[in-house]
Amino acid sequence: MSPLHRRGILCIVSGPSGSGKTTLCRALSASDDQCDYAVSCTTRAPRGGEVDGRDYHFLSRADFEARALRGEFLEWAEVHGNLYGTLKRSVLDLIETGRDVLMDIDVQGAALVRQIADPAIRDSLIDIFILLPGRDEMIKRLSGRGTETPEQVALRLHNALEEMRHWRDYGYAIVSGSPEQDLRRFRAIVEAERCRTHRLRGEDGHAAATGEEHPDLFADA
Ligand code: 5GP
Repeated sequence: MSPLHRRGILCIVSGPSGSGKTTLCRALSASDDQCDYAVSCTTRAPRGGEVDGRDYHFLSRADFEARALRGEFLEWAEVHGNLYGTLKRSVLDLIETGRDVLMDIDVQGAALVRQIADPAIRDSLIDIFILLPGRDEMIKRLSGRGTETPEQVALRLHNALEEMRHWRDYGYAIVSGSPEQDLRRFRAIVEAERCRTHRLRGEDGHAAATGEEHPDLFADA
């Protein structure tokens, strides 16, 4: 067993509609036993095949607004005319126990999380933007979903172009290629972040810095 422990990573993933960010987060959390996907709340109606509690917590606007007033959300924002938010309890307890949490949220929500002063959140945070290689690919992917009306596609395209302007606010960017390439890069980022020394703690709760504190690490040196 590793002599080092760490606090979990809070990983924000944003990108325009069609960037595949939800699929990417789902794929990593399904294949990595240290990761969990934070299921958001939304006031939008479920799409075909979506399951309450798995894809989203589907709430009425009144319920959502009451929760927002009670301070239950880590962040929330209006996106495409609907409210979306991440529940604090779906994130904070997990990070404390060393789980990595993947949050698929829009650029407004990401900006709000970056402003949170709580050191536990600031130390845990990484942010990744998924870019599409060009406008043509964006239109292709947005139209390809097939579940939206032409008006919704037009709104999503407008929002997607707006959203793309924020990629430099993020610490990492992945230019989307095949799903396999995207997942490989995403996993590489998360794996590298797990090894950052500022996240690591020794058995006694202090940062592992010297052989004196952790003779077992340096036994063969
Ligand atoms: P969709 O309706 O297509 O599932 O999601 C629309 C947008 O809402 C996406 O950009 C997605 O990242 C964003 N979104 C999903 N959950 C949340 C959330 O909890 N907070 C915020 N701010 N955005 C979210």
